[in-house]
Amino acid sequence: MPKALYPGSFDPITYGHLDIIERAEKIFDDLIVGIVENPRKETLFSPAERKELALAALEEEGIGVSKVITFDGLLVNCAKSHDRESIVRGLRANSDFEYEFQMALTNRDLAPNIESVFLMTSGEYSFLSSSIVKEVKELGGDVSTFVPRVVEKKLAEKFSVPD
Ligand code: ADP
Repeated sequence: MPKALYPGSFDPITYGHLDIIERAEKIFDDLIVGIVENPRKETLFSPAERKELALAALEEEGIGVSKVITFDGLLVNCAKSHDRESIVRGLRANSDFEYEFQMALTNRDLAPNIESVFLMTSGEYSFLSSSIVKEVKELGGDVSTFVPRVVEKKLAEKFSVPD
């Protein structure tokens, strides 16, 4: 089976991401989670914090991946440098599709040997995004069904709201 890279902002990692990781782990021999250092959107957490949270969340959930890395620059260059044949992405709704479609075709143009593979969200996480988690927590809401404990704690610290 090919080796894969699952890239994203992971700001912060949620149960939606973890579900994709867990399922991708069963399909690919070797999965690396790649945290984009400078995504186009502004992030709440630094690359180092996002990596630390991803590692802690994976541990809390008992999910083993081969590695969590941070990277900058072109995604296909990161995939090549780690010897990856596949890029894994999750799809939630129509709104994800348009962007993912464009990215996948662009990446295929840049690196024809790297295949993008899409895993459909699980129904229970189809509405879940890092942005909604941040919004709810900043307003003092309970996000325990959206993110592991360690992530909720860190969000509470960041927003100075009760844990
Ligand atoms: P990006 O900014 O690169 O989209 P994200 O951290 O938002 O990074 O998402 C990384 C990947 O995980 C994307 O492919 C995204 O569609 C997917 N993803 C995020 N949340 C979910 C979810 N709840 N269910 C399935 N896939 C998801």
